[in-house]
Amino acid sequence: MENQETDKVYALAFGAHPDDVELSCGATLLTIIDDGQTVAVCDLTQGEMGTLGTAETRKAESALAAKVMGYRKRITLDLGDSGLYYTEHALKEVIRVIRHFQPEVVFINPPDERHPDHIKASRLIHDAAFYAGLKKISTTHNGGQQQPHRPLHLLYYMQFKHFDPSIIVDVTATFERSRKGILAFSSQFYQKGVEDEPETMIKRREFLTGLEARARYLGEQIGTRYGEGFTLPGPLGITSFSTVFPEN
Ligand SMILES: [Zn+2]
Repeated sequence: MENQETDKVYALAFGAHPDDVELSCGATLLTIIDDGQTVAVCDLTQGEMGTLGTAETRKAESALAAKVMGYRKRITLDLGDSGLYYTEHALKEVIRVIRHFQPEVVFINPPDERHPDHIKASRLIHDAAFYAGLKKISTTHNGGQQQPHRPLHLLYYMQFKHFDPSIIVDVTATFERSRKGILAFSSQFYQKGVEDEPETMIKRREFLTGLEARARYLGEQIGTRYGEGFTLPGPLGITSFSTVFPEN
């Protein structure tokens, strides 16, 4: 039985944990939505091993983030926080998601990172994006056979480790709004008046200020107020020169 049922979107952003996407490329996703394009998000794990919050609170938080950000859809897989491995099962799950959303652009965790889950997610999603295009790899959704689909563009976003970005997106218009998507994950970040919880790397009061400082720095590199940086797995092909290098 052929089943063409999809939720086609323009961009699909993956994260190893709920909040990876909002912290790293949320403002860029908002610029895409502002352009009238559709965005979906897929978290590979439920974030249940995080020091703060439970799988339940993080589920409610990621649903709230999806709502305030305006995603078409957000799905959360259960591939095991801190137990994420490169298995055939995990690969097939990610292929299934890519074929379901049929994105042109896919955002991925960067290949070199502090949290091992980010590194493993990066490899897994990168490879799944390739295999999703192979006709002979069969996957089903709701009992129906899925069609092969290979995204045109993969972009690695920036997390804990800095890298020299190959592209910087001007997010001046959306940066402030993207904060709402981050603050939806209230169990994870510093809140005024709540001082008695264990401090984690991202719970520090300075963390959100640090994120803003980086966005300001990246913006400065392209002469705007805020920027988000990305690298690509290969060279960026340009078919319309003047669209990428417009007249002043
Ligand atoms: Zn993460």
